[in-house]
Amino acid sequence: MTIELVDAGVNLSNHQFDEHHDEVLQRAAQAGVKQMLLIGCDIQSSQASLQLAKRHSLLCTSGIHPHDAKTADISLEQQLTLLASHPEVVAIGECGLDYNRDFSPRDVQRAVLRRQLALAETLNMPVYLHERDASNDMLAILNEYNVKGVLHCFTGDELALQRYLEKGLYIGVTGWVCDERRGEQLQSLIPSIPLERLLIETDAPFLLPRTIKPKPKSRRNEPSYLTYVCQQIADLKGCEFTEVAKQTTLNFQQLFSVRG
Ligand SMILES: [Zn+2]
Repeated sequence: MTIELVDAGVNLSNHQFDEHHDEVLQRAAQAGVKQMLLIGCDIQSSQASLQLAKRHSLLCTSGIHPHDAKTADISLEQQLTLLASHPEVVAIGECGLDYNRDFSPRDVQRAVLRRQLALAETLNMPVYLHERDASNDMLAILNEYNVKGVLHCFTGDELALQRYLEKGLYIGVTGWVCDERRGEQLQSLIPSIPLERLLIETDAPFLLPRTIKPKPKSRRNEPSYLTYVCQQIADLKGCEFTEVAKQTTLNFQQLFSVRG
């Protein structure tokens, strides 16, 4: 396969990939996944993602996930600015709101999101957004800032989708779309997402696509399985795999200002 895919969200610094980076990246390259965005969820994983990105010529984000919002301290802006000064860092995030798990208090989540949006605006960088059961607050807060970005791993409803699209955001779709049960709503919304605004991501090691055949022995997802996300979207849109692959790669390059 020669079609170049970009995995717009990989948690490569997750311990599940420890000592497996080379083989995982090799399988990704064999599957056509030539570029990937490594996700930082807190300062430590942002630093680890940056080191991995440097070592393997990849790209990464720097930020604090809403789950970890309570770990943000007064030096957050300073630490993220330092990280973002490296050319491999192309977005601020993963940042956002998660009212589904509530691992950090909601007022802390909102405050830490606002600080990262303000920083992204100052640095003129895109944001990598996470939102679960919080689209009203997310949209209200986004309206306070002038930022571009991607709403990663979208799992919301039609109204939220339309409002995010009106806001000019890209929509990240993961292997959630390959789940015949909990992915049903997302599957029905795929035709409503313009191909020009779509990014595809695995969110590995999480969200193993349920369409993989034969079913892998390990539950660990990895970037080489991005092809299953791409194929599922092509099937739902009634277009070719190569069309989805080409356009999502182009979208990634445009949003994050990277050359092909
Ligand atoms: Zn997320």
